[in-house]
Amino acid sequence: MIRIGILGYGNLGRGVEYAVEANEDMELVAVFTRRAPASVKPRMNVPVVSVDDAEMWKNKIDVLILCGGSATDLPEQTPAFAKLFNVVDSFDTHAKIPAHFAAVDAAAKETGHVGVISVGWDPGMFSLARVYANAVLTNGADYTFWGRGVSQGHSDAIRRIPGVKDAKQYTVPVPAALAAVRSGANPALSTREKHTRECYVVLEAGADKAAVEKAIVTMPNYFADYDTTVHFITEEELQRDHAGLAHGGFVIRSGATGRNSEHKHVIEFSLKLDSNPEFTACVLAAYARAAHRLAAEGMTGCKTVLDIAPAYLSAKSSAELRAALL
Ligand code: NDP
Repeated sequence: MIRIGILGYGNLGRGVEYAVEANEDMELVAVFTRRAPASVKPRMNVPVVSVDDAEMWKNKIDVLILCGGSATDLPEQTPAFAKLFNVVDSFDTHAKIPAHFAAVDAAAKETGHVGVISVGWDPGMFSLARVYANAVLTNGADYTFWGRGVSQGHSDAIRRIPGVKDAKQYTVPVPAALAAVRSGANPALSTREKHTRECYVVLEAGADKAAVEKAIVTMPNYFADYDTTVHFITEEELQRDHAGLAHGGFVIRSGATGRNSEHKHVIEFSLKLDSNPEFTACVLAAYARAAHRLAAEGMTGCKTVLDIAPAYLSAKSSAELRAALL
């Protein structure tokens, strides 16, 4: 049995609890939290432990799955806990992955642990799809489309606007752009041509609708480069119609065999997820198995999904994989 610990009990932490249950070679040993342990109630009957006491669990856990947020939790937690445990995280701030890798690598090597970072769907399964497609089809172009799904970062950005009580933002791929890419035409697409943004906003009493809408659609980095629609709705409508965490998307690479070949190829990988955090948790569980196996082989340091061979993820033996899935 691979003994799993969860650190941080939010959406992802709850998802990991389901994912561990679905893997017969894993058992959940404890949930660690920064909050008062008595205030956190996992579904399963496992101890809830303060993060301050985590060191006492050093020899009772094979892999600690870190379920904190990428913005401020994981940059601190993953290097710190890689000193005590083999760890897996879902760090998704793409631009900061190299720095995060270096910090986790140093901590994990110092103490002889394995740290697998940026596991999930993007980064994660989408990263694998991009690298496989790039390696195979060297003469081509890459496209990643996200959605339709909720972007937590964009929803948060709207909520920070004065007069906004609550908000949800959906990222939506433009159907014509997807069709053009799938045709193998290798179109050059601007940011605006690839995705639109749909916002559902609840205003504070007395807030200026027009001013809020303008603040959203002109917001640099988040909305200014997109065609954005803003819908003002009630709090009840937001809770009734927009509570879900569905997401997904498409990674496509299209190109020709070589510069002198007329034969075109299109590679596509897609995900349609009812629950972004629950699916991410399933990926984390598979990479926890890989982390455990790599550590058992004496490997130390930081790894990403790109460094780990597929057979390490599966509960099936290599012989079973060759017979059934190769
Ligand atoms: P949440 O906001 O639900 O949870 C983050 C942390 O907040 C928890 O671990 C928990 O830590 C803390 N927390 C504090 N108060 C509460 C509370 N009242 N209820 C629940 N949690 C609380 O974030 P998610 O789990 O949805 O996402 C975590 C991260 O996962 C995201 O920041 C994102 O970066 C990453 N992610 C990555 C993906 C990928 O594809 N790579 C896909 C999806 C997400 P504690 O128990 O210690 O208080």
